[in-house]
Amino acid sequence: MAAEVRVRYAPSPTGFQHIGNLRTALFNWLFARHERGKFIIRIEDTDRERSEEKYVTQILDDFRWLGIDWDEGPDVGGDYGPYRQSERLAIYQEHADRLRAEGKAYRCYCTPEELEARRQTAKKTGRPPEDTRCRELSAEGQRKLEAEGRPPSIRFRVGEDRKITFDDLVLGATTFDSRQIGDFVVLKSDGWPTYHFGVVVDDWLMKISHVIRAEGHLSNTPLHVMLMDALGFKRPEFAHLPSVLSADGKGKLSKRLGALSLVEYRKQGYLPEALMNFMALLGWSPGDNREIMIPDERIESIESVDQQSIVRNELVKSFDLKRVKKASARFDTQKLLWMNQKYLNNLYEADLGRLLRLASEALNEAGIDVSALELREIWRVVNLYHGSIKTLADFAEQARFFFVDDITYDPKAVEKILDAEGIGFLRQAYDALKTLDNWTNWEIEKVLTSITPEIGKVAQPIRVAITGTKVSKGIFDTLSLLGDKRSLKRIKDALEKFGKAED
Ligand code: GLU
Repeated sequence: MAAEVRVRYAPSPTGFQHIGNLRTALFNWLFARHERGKFIIRIEDTDRERSEEKYVTQILDDFRWLGIDWDEGPDVGGDYGPYRQSERLAIYQEHADRLRAEGKAYRCYCTPEELEARRQTAKKTGRPPEDTRCRELSAEGQRKLEAEGRPPSIRFRVGEDRKITFDDLVLGATTFDSRQIGDFVVLKSDGWPTYHFGVVVDDWLMKISHVIRAEGHLSNTPLHVMLMDALGFKRPEFAHLPSVLSADGKGKLSKRLGALSLVEYRKQGYLPEALMNFMALLGWSPGDNREIMIPDERIESIESVDQQSIVRNELVKSFDLKRVKKASARFDTQKLLWMNQKYLNNLYEADLGRLLRLASEALNEAGIDVSALELREIWRVVNLYHGSIKTLADFAEQARFFFVDDITYDPKAVEKILDAEGIGFLRQAYDALKTLDNWTNWEIEKVLTSITPEIGKVAQPIRVAITGTKVSKGIFDTLSLLGDKRSLKRIKDALEKFGKAED
């Protein structure tokens, strides 16, 4: 029987996770779930200065929100813990000692300053730094350096020149030349492991079957393979995922170019299933031109329409490492928006309750207190906006004027629309609307079109008066939903505020 699939996501908690990190986590999780294996979270907190607990909490929160669950990790434990590298120092020491006892590693007494100076020289000459001075030290030489008070690190002996080859599940056979790799540190002089050593020892002890990580780590893999061979560890399978570039395909992702932290996307009103779907397509495709992961089969009962689970299950069912692409992926914010809109539209049909809950949360997030409102009132507004909302934060922004009477006028809109002609139409509209007995779309339309057949001429001034901006949904619907009292009051206020000069 094939060995159990065990994969890990191994973040360094030194900052917020961006979409690139999360894509790596997602592919590991999808693979684990598809293969009915285990997904493990291991915290690589060996950068003592930059690691912070708040980032660990954030990482786990991000996963919960996205709908990614884990079988072993820092909070839930597991058979192969601890799952934080800072709690595993004795384990690394033991393995480094073994390497040294077998002559595969040695003590190095070079100071950080000496190493830095050599790195600078290496940069200029284009050759690996000459960090092997301590390789053949005699016992006498060692004692001398120790007497100088230099604390030793443990350096791995790369040994004879050779080719290091491994099969990558995405990139195929990959070869590196050991001459390009100088002897490297595995344990620092303070007893903490380097990234390479921590990863290799932990992947082995945690029985990781597949190392799936970003392509940026590819040049680290030969170092890891050498260490694994020296330690007698069986190599896992490797899969290096294509980089995620900005939409124009030129630059690396940056905050400006779309790679915000998940917290930001959450605040901006994206649905977790839209983000999950979007990230899954960054370097992978289900192979049947599908982009929106709503299944074609019929849904058995209304209770089963939980859109987030549907998307999650559908991705798990379809995921296959074989379909991971070699070419780098592009982060297209427009596509993400499009996808989010599709899922919001779908939610309107499939799970209105959740849509209303999310809409209320977005309104709250935008500082609009809706706690005293009946759900029906929010529903009416959602109903008006549904179909055209790209994110829930957009919705809160566009629909703000329905919930808050204290509107802010956009000065440009006022200047352009509420000129003498605009005010004239606004006044006529006010006089006509005031007399309406039935405040319905139909009646509103009738009186406004009787003022002028060019409805925009009267609609725009009304729009500015009731929303403060030049944009809203259709004016008859908007007025009827806002209600007679509030609409008339706002028009009157605008006439008083901006109509004076014309009097
Ligand atoms: N801690 C590493 C990182 O954050 C993990 C790399 C790996 O998966 O080996 O990139």
